[in-house]
Amino acid sequence: MDIDEILIKLDAVRRQGDGWIALCPAHNDHHPSLSIRERNGKLLLHCFAGCSFEDVLSALGAKRKR
Ligand SMILES: [Zn+2]
Repeated sequence: MDIDEILIKLDAVRRQGDGWIALCPAHNDHHPSLSIRERNGKLLLHCFAGCSFEDVLSALGAKRKR
């Protein structure tokens, strides 16, 4: 999965610094707490509420918006 595919599936995506922030799909997020970044071709996902990378990816995989 590349970063564009992930950004398409997320809600409330905003550019922040060298990455993006969005609503986390792995918990009931009301304030964007998921940080999405790409560094050296490696995807970095971080939820400030504590969801793991795997939680976020599986939530994204289960969600088909288009
Ligand atoms: Zn989360």
